[in-house]
Amino acid sequence: MRRYVIVGSGIAGLSAAEAIRHCDAKGEITLLAEEPHGIYSRPGLAYLLTGAIPEQQLYARSQAELRELRLNWVRIPAARLYPESHEVILANSQHLTYDRLLLATGSTAVKPDFPGGDLAGVVKLDNLDDARQILKRARRGRTAVVVGGGITALELAEGLNARGMCVHYFLRGDRYWSNVLDQTESRIIEGRLKAEGVVIHYLTQIKQAIGKRGELVGVETAAGEYIPCHILGVAIGVRPRMEVAQLAQLKTERGIAVDETMQTSAPDVFAAGDVAQVYDPRSKRAILDTLWSTALMQGQAAGVNMAGAQTPYVKGLAFNVTRLAGLTVTLIGGIGSGRDEDLLTIARGDSEAWRVTPEAWIVAERHEVNRLRLLVDERIIVGALVMGDQTLSRPLQNLIANQVDIAPIRQVIQDDPGAMIPLILNLHRQWTAQHS
Ligand SMILES: Cc1cc2nc3c(=O)[nH]c(=O)nc-3n(C[C@H](O)[C@H](O)[C@H](O)COP(=O)(O)OP(=O)(O)OC[C@H]3O[C@@H](n4cnc5c(N)ncnc54)[C@H](O)[C@@H]3O)c2cc1C
Repeated sequence: MRRYVIVGSGIAGLSAAEAIRHCDAKGEITLLAEEPHGIYSRPGLAYLLTGAIPEQQLYARSQAELRELRLNWVRIPAARLYPESHEVILANSQHLTYDRLLLATGSTAVKPDFPGGDLAGVVKLDNLDDARQILKRARRGRTAVVVGGGITALELAEGLNARGMCVHYFLRGDRYWSNVLDQTESRIIEGRLKAEGVVIHYLTQIKQAIGKRGELVGVETAAGEYIPCHILGVAIGVRPRMEVAQLAQLKTERGIAVDETMQTSAPDVFAAGDVAQVYDPRSKRAILDTLWSTALMQGQAAGVNMAGAQTPYVKGLAFNVTRLAGLTVTLIGGIGSGRDEDLLTIARGDSEAWRVTPEAWIVAERHEVNRLRLLVDERIIVGALVMGDQTLSRPLQNLIANQVDIAPIRQVIQDDPGAMIPLILNLHRQWTAQHS
């Protein structure tokens, strides 16, 4: 009977456990969990903050479904890993041996880089305890400041605003999420935030968070402005949790390096999810994704291979549907460019694949809040951003993932971006008819 150990009870750990159980009915699966609240949706935390969903709705699997997996659930984190002896040491010094082990330790918010960052009231949004703490504080205070870029910063600003707080959103740069959105898209999102009552401060950095008896009372900006506040939300990026891998001297770069079967540099040790750095055939680089769907698929691939298969994991097209200031935004393939001053590292719900500006011609179509931006090379569409009306997001995902030749419509679109929507839909219809 094979002994499997999974370190981390996020979606990557869960999907690996499900895949293992599917392939190996008899194996013993031990799940080492630092998280006290079981397996829940981290993206759902944003909806919990705004009040759109209750806590129970965060749980993606029922107790009965989890019982069927017959996991040996140990609520103690892993502290050390010894790949040569196939041994893992828990935080309480207990030893476990394994035949196959998965590191699915996820990622965590980067700590604030200014003085006062450790005051009570300076918050991050990594897990359910963080969300509960934010909600509790929001009941007691009137003003909040949020710093950072990407999806999580916006979710913090919107969540606190929805809880009745006056929110000041600080941007180091001159627009929101500048490495993924273009100028028009940033302005659409900022306009909607302002309409909701969020006060945006451009080109603004925190000099220090100021406290009294360990509690946050305000922030001072680099320009010398003082804003009293009760909550300071920080979302300046995330970093993969590689401590256990590094102590075990596994090969790590920005994440734990894995091969095409999700195996690390140590035999029988696998990694998946936010913590894994995976080869991306499109950008031809090993990259990080901090996406829920990617973590799920990597966990599945790792689980199958841990159970004995040799199935390569091929990283799919980066794809994410998210809500920014109440607007649905779908990001597909390579669409961004360069750096974002508001992020020290990758953001939550982000893929490094988005930041690679392809050698492409950009065509954009805008009607009020609906916007469609395509990145097109000589023959194919390489990336797309669909904001607002989502009619084209699935067709575009198919056309991009399958590298469908767009030569027949390329020139027409270039000459008349207004014709883009019917032409794309028609091309997709034809392609689907040929491939069904
Ligand atoms: C607020 C928020 C919004 C998000 N929005 C989106 C979105 O819109 N779209 C999207 O695609 N993704 C989004 N994400 C990201 C998405 O949730 C993650 O990509 C996904 O959860 C990664 O899953 P994972 O299993 O790799 O890691 P995690 O979910 O981070 O789970 C890792 C687990 O391992 C545990 N752990 C760490 N070290 C140890 C140890 N030594 N021993 C035992 N356990 C350990 C951690 O406590 C954690 O429970 C969001 C995340 C957050 C927090």
